[in-house]
Amino acid sequence: MKTVQEDIFTELNYNFNDVSDWRRYLHQHPELSFEETETAKFIAEKLTQFGLEVKSGIGGNGLVGILKGSEQGETIALRADFDALPIQDEKDVSYKSLNKGVMHACGHDGHTAALLGTAQTLSRFREKIKGTVLFIFQHAEEKPPGGAKFMIEENVLDGVDYVYGAHLASDIPLGKIALGSGYRMAAVDKFTINIKGKGGHGAMPHTTVDAVVVGSEIVTSLQKVVSRRINPLESAVVTIGVFQSGTAFNIIADTAKIEGTVRTFEDSVRNQIEEEIRAIVKGNTIAAHASYDIDYLRGYPALNNHQEETETVAELLSDTFGKEAIIDLTPAMGAEDFAYFLNERPGTYFKVGSRNESETTHFPHHHPKFDFDERALLNIEKSFVQIVAHHLF
Ligand code: MN
Repeated sequence: MKTVQEDIFTELNYNFNDVSDWRRYLHQHPELSFEETETAKFIAEKLTQFGLEVKSGIGGNGLVGILKGSEQGETIALRADFDALPIQDEKDVSYKSLNKGVMHACGHDGHTAALLGTAQTLSRFREKIKGTVLFIFQHAEEKPPGGAKFMIEENVLDGVDYVYGAHLASDIPLGKIALGSGYRMAAVDKFTINIKGKGGHGAMPHTTVDAVVVGSEIVTSLQKVVSRRINPLESAVVTIGVFQSGTAFNIIADTAKIEGTVRTFEDSVRNQIEEEIRAIVKGNTIAAHASYDIDYLRGYPALNNHQEETETVAELLSDTFGKEAIIDLTPAMGAEDFAYFLNERPGTYFKVGSRNESETTHFPHHHPKFDFDERALLNIEKSFVQIVAHHLF
């Protein structure tokens, strides 16, 4: 039996050269988070060509394409991000970045091209759609506070019933799709601690407050937050990435600066760690006669995939790509601001395998040689089409 989806897949295959061209154009012209004005114009131009209503400048450079079907119905949002990273492209390919020190090293060029391709093809099947497809193109995923938060604050999800997102994955083979419900990516917080001691002569410690010693005690104590204070059945990371202090071998340091990141899944753990860190810093500085200030910034929330939608998509994609194609999305302590969308609406975020036999597709995301098998983009498009078909056909 020939389904509408089969016709759409034929059309997707037929249009795939466009998707590859767009991806390569975007790859050559990457823009940093919050600076993606030309990319946003490029996307708006394409959406307009497909006959979609376009709304630009949502929460910054974010924009949407709206595809209204032939009848009233639910609204399904599909999201792609489109910012690049401050990395020099070290690949030797025709579509290498032309912007010095800026590169699409996470695959957001691919996400954007695949979502444009989905919009292009679905716009030709408008009469089959009972409802609305909202194509969300989100700026600034890579740089907290991120673009998602601002787009949501400007009501991008008004009237939306479900929201879905996909990410390429160079650690997953082409043809495989990774899904999972519950917490799959972490909340990310950042803290900066400034310690004020009392500098002095290296031979006269009793007349000083040694900021190196106070800072060291704090760094050591912070290692015990996860190991001694958090329930071992919960997941959490406290990492100190910066410890700066001192100027010369025979001078007792006046100040010390400590910076770190906290990764958690559960809100209760997130809150507890902040309290523990504040208590450790306060206690250690009081005991040492030092003073301090602490700047604690909450970043992206944990990404929590909704169970029902995740199971539904797993079934849909199992039918599309085969049972063996569906694998478990391994939870990890990385972060992704799609989490904000999932805190507002039901949906799921999944990963689409993009590595083939060639080592050029094996580099991790954010590597200066990151690249992927573009056929993965077709898998993103087919996944999105199946999700839309499920809700709106
Ligand atoms: Mn990414």
